[in-house]
Amino acid sequence: MKSLPENILYSVLENADLYPEDKGLYFKIKCPSCGHKEAFIYKNNFIISCSRKNKCGFSGSIEDLINNDPEIRKKIAKTKTIFLDKKEKIKETSKLIIPNNTRFFSEESKGFIYNQALSYLQKRKIHKNVINELGYVCNPNKNIKLGIFIPFFEDKKLVYYVIRNINKKSKFRFINPKEVKSSEFLFNYDKFLENETICIFEGLFDAMSIENFVGTAMLTSSLSKPQASKIFDKSPKRIIYIPDNDLAGVTSLERNINLLNYYKPPSLKTDIYIWRVPKEYKDFNEYCIKENYHEINIIDCKIFNKRKKNIIMKRKSPL
Ligand SMILES: [Zn+2]
Repeated sequence: MKSLPENILYSVLENADLYPEDKGLYFKIKCPSCGHKEAFIYKNNFIISCSRKNKCGFSGSIEDLINNDPEIRKKIAKTKTIFLDKKEKIKETSKLIIPNNTRFFSEESKGFIYNQALSYLQKRKIHKNVINELGYVCNPNKNIKLGIFIPFFEDKKLVYYVIRNINKKSKFRFINPKEVKSSEFLFNYDKFLENETICIFEGLFDAMSIENFVGTAMLTSSLSKPQASKIFDKSPKRIIYIPDNDLAGVTSLERNINLLNYYKPPSLKTDIYIWRVPKEYKDFNEYCIKENYHEINIIDCKIFNKRKKNIIMKRKSPL
């Protein structure tokens, strides 16, 4: 047995009364040997290991678990087809349509519209290598005349995009595809490298501003469960979390860090740090524009510690 779809693995564990709990890359389960809920199984591995190394130390394959129990085998035979059908359906509906008038900065022909879009990005001090990966769209809908097209790739496939309006007269700031949810994806996912540093920002322009590490964005002030889980796909050495300097950024900080810790696989030694944008700036992009500096130094980062008051800014009461 080489691999099992995640849903089936879950069902096997559930049918074997191991009470699986989804932790992103792995399931936390009850140990088949000692009965403590301290065992785990990676979704791509199929070896159950008990974390109680000295007291239990159980290690065994999911295959043995299935083969030794005819009842589990019967249940799997039934559930398999149902799960596969579901997966096929998801594939069909997640086709992303790029707006018609999208052009990329890397293309040959350039004109007035191109210059307008380019000058917006230059004002926001986005590096030319990043600009070359972006596009611009004319009239993507009646509220937006010109927007910056920001694509999201996962395994070289376009999975999501954001169009940022650059016309100040319109109240609409963004257009997002309706077919898919933003919370499922992470900007710059394909740039994450094994054992490297990932910076998590709220906004795309913040993520595009950092130049000494790879930046990604939550798109809101709160990290979603799929995003928290995907962060660990390439086993990062270090995660730096950079909230905006507003109330939403500060209040969701602890929740987001807790979520990251929850999804962090037990075998990874990823350190999670916080870097705060100096308080005179609202976010990292504004800091980069005004300071003309696009890097974060590790020595300025802090390990999250919820007992320390210096990390969460306390607002003075208005009295
Ligand atoms: Zn055990």
